Amino acid sequence: MPAKNLFIDEGLIQKQLMAGLGKSPEEVLAILAKAREARGIEPEEAAALLQVADPELIETIFQTAREVKLRIYGKRLVLFAPLYLSNFCVNNCRYCGFRRDNRSIRRKRLQQEEIREQAREVENLGHKRLLLECGESFSADMDYIEEAIATIYRTKNGQGEIRRVNVNIAATTVENYRRLKAAKIGTYQLFQETYHRLTYELMHDGPKKDYERQLLAHDRAQDAGIDDVGLGVLFGLYDYKFEVLALLYHARHLEEKFGVGPHTISIPRVRPAAGVDFTTPHLVLDEAFKKLIAILRLAVPYTGMIISTRESVQMRTEAFSLGISQTSAGSRTAPGAYGKDGGNPEEGESEQFIISDPRSPDEVILSICQLGYLPSFCTACYRRGRTGKEFMDKAKPGDIQELCSANALLTFREYLLDYAAEETRRAGEINFSQFLKTISNKNLRGETEKRLLEIEAGKRDLYF
Ligand code: SAM
Ligand code: SF4
Repeated sequence: MPAKNLFIDEGLIQKQLMAGLGKSPEEVLAILAKAREARGIEPEEAAALLQVADPELIETIFQTAREVKLRIYGKRLVLFAPLYLSNFCVNNCRYCGFRRDNRSIRRKRLQQEEIREQAREVENLGHKRLLLECGESFSADMDYIEEAIATIYRTKNGQGEIRRVNVNIAATTVENYRRLKAAKIGTYQLFQETYHRLTYELMHDGPKKDYERQLLAHDRAQDAGIDDVGLGVLFGLYDYKFEVLALLYHARHLEEKFGVGPHTISIPRVRPAAGVDFTTPHLVLDEAFKKLIAILRLAVPYTGMIISTRESVQMRTEAFSLGISQTSAGSRTAPGAYGKDGGNPEEGESEQFIISDPRSPDEVILSICQLGYLPSFCTACYRRGRTGKEFMDKAKPGDIQELCSANALLTFREYLLDYAAEETRRAGEINFSQFLKTISNKNLRGETEKRLLEIEAGKRDLYF
């Protein structure tokens, strides 16, 4: 039964995609002229861009996205690492290595002591933000997750500490979201995987098969007071053009109902996984993938966009310029795998999927510096209470950009002093004064310079 897909009207989306096919180059250029103002575009306008096939026009879409990205985010890129707690799962998602019926992986659920050890390992890499990931379990999982979050926040390691724990766990109840809020999570992320109901139902089995449970999870999280929520699609399950429009309708729904759209959008593409025999006619090729990133950037300029190590070095590099604002680095997708590289052949047997960018965080950061970007480990907004609507109200008129640059510089200085290899340190220093100059507010620049000196002298965790 189709139907009460609430704010996802499949018929309307298909109709808009059809209408998008008929747009002339002039009409497409007019949409891009509007998009250049960085105030977003409507779903029907995004539909027209999604249908563009002419290589020259596609290049103009990319160029416009690059401009908007630069205008809103400057050269900053925020870094994080995922931390997998458990690969036990009651669901049977056809694409996932953790699926219930996959007998070929080793199941593992980290004990609190192991979580502490993993947090220390991730801190040793210089990370300050974690994304907690977990399979779904029937048994009192929220107690376990609450305890894991507390363990992580408590775990310090020299100068290392995790300052923001974001969470990507199964859809749950308002009551459980309240508990996550009380545990001081940053963003709650949940991916719809596919917005196409029939495909969704074919792909899933177990509690996750309930389309509405997944679709309305962010509403429940908002009702529980979590005002930074993240959306996502697993690209490759259904037509990517449909998914992009559906994502935009989901974002619009959140904005209308809660006064604030999604804090982030994640764009994973499906990857091979051990023990998973998944094929699909909807694989998203590289050109289409770049196009969808650029169009999302134009459609929701203020929403953070996240790319993971599912993507290759080359794709990640291109995606940074087209619209990505956050990236994972040095990720491991098996529970307990940080710090075990090369020493534990079992780890490869318990991954969720195979990653494409195996570089260490320091290698990623070196290349980010060489590309002229500013790595940021900032967690300030969430700790200063600049979340949800308050964040968006400040971000939209551009009031927050200079603070973000200052915080990026402060946290990157910590990284350079505490964790960077010699080559990374040299590359980071080269750009540093350039980035400092981009802070036009003299008071803020002066205060940033002062705090940078304090960090050199040994202080940590200074932020605006
Ligand atoms: N188990 C929870 C859930 O499914 O919502 C939480 C997170 S799950 C560990 C994180 C995400 O990984 C899923 O939402 C899915 O989009 C993605 N994923 C699963 N299998 C994948 C694969 N083979 N390739 C790429 N991403 C995958
Ligand atoms: Fe379980 Fe999530 Fe994997 Fe589905 S995607 S099998 S819910 S871990």
